[in-house]
Amino acid sequence: MNMDPKKPIVIKDLCIACGLCNAMVPSVFDWDDDGKMKTIVSAVPKGQEADVEEAKVNCPTAAIEVK
Ligand code: SF4
Repeated sequence: MNMDPKKPIVIKDLCIACGLCNAMVPSVFDWDDDGKMKTIVSAVPKGQEADVEEAKVNCPTAAIEVK
């Protein structure tokens, strides 16, 4: 079983820049220069797995992946 930290990803083509993920987990999601969201960490920080999962399931366009 792979226990490595998971990588959060924003699929830019799907992001509608609603800002939800940044509001929920600003330590992981932040605005990019293109007006859409980006991830600012290469791995989900320890202890924030549930917060990132919450942002993922609440993203209105399913633009967030964690793999
Ligand atoms: S919640 Fe989804 S659509 Fe909204 S800013 Fe984040 S990635 Fe983009």
